[in-house]
Amino acid sequence: MTNHEGFMSEAVKAALKGMSNNEGGPFGCIVVKNGEIVGRGNNKVTSTNDPTAHAEVTAIRDACKNLNSFQLDGCIVYTSCEPCPMCLGAIYWARPDKVYYGSNQQDAANIGFDDEFIYKEIPLPYEKRSIPFEQIGREIALEPFQKWSEKEDKTEY
Ligand SMILES: [Zn+2]
Repeated sequence: MTNHEGFMSEAVKAALKGMSNNEGGPFGCIVVKNGEIVGRGNNKVTSTNDPTAHAEVTAIRDACKNLNSFQLDGCIVYTSCEPCPMCLGAIYWARPDKVYYGSNQQDAANIGFDDEFIYKEIPLPYEKRSIPFEQIGREIALEPFQKWSEKEDKTEY
């Protein structure tokens, strides 16, 4: 077993443990830096009433807390399943060096976790989406942006 497979097996173990504890769906993820596990996560959607508590998001939160950083510089993410669009976005914001995934989107769809519909929603015009988006109040909403661009003591990211 290579190191990569060993770390993948840790992500799978997190999936199995979370599932047997009834924390959520069958997904696990770990974050590795310099050969050491710095963050662990598993799906906790149903146990925490948090639709964003996917394995990758919980692992990223754990790793960032442990590293005391809002970025995963030099880190590798091992996730038991190919990330959904939300986790894909979270991973891009966290900026790890690489992602290894185990099972794929089709494997997840086969057991009822189908995120294909979200990918199909992305290119649709807002009024055609299953959850309609409509812009209102742009003028008032621009105030924080203007204040941010003038703010002297901001932490950029
Ligand atoms: Zn996800």
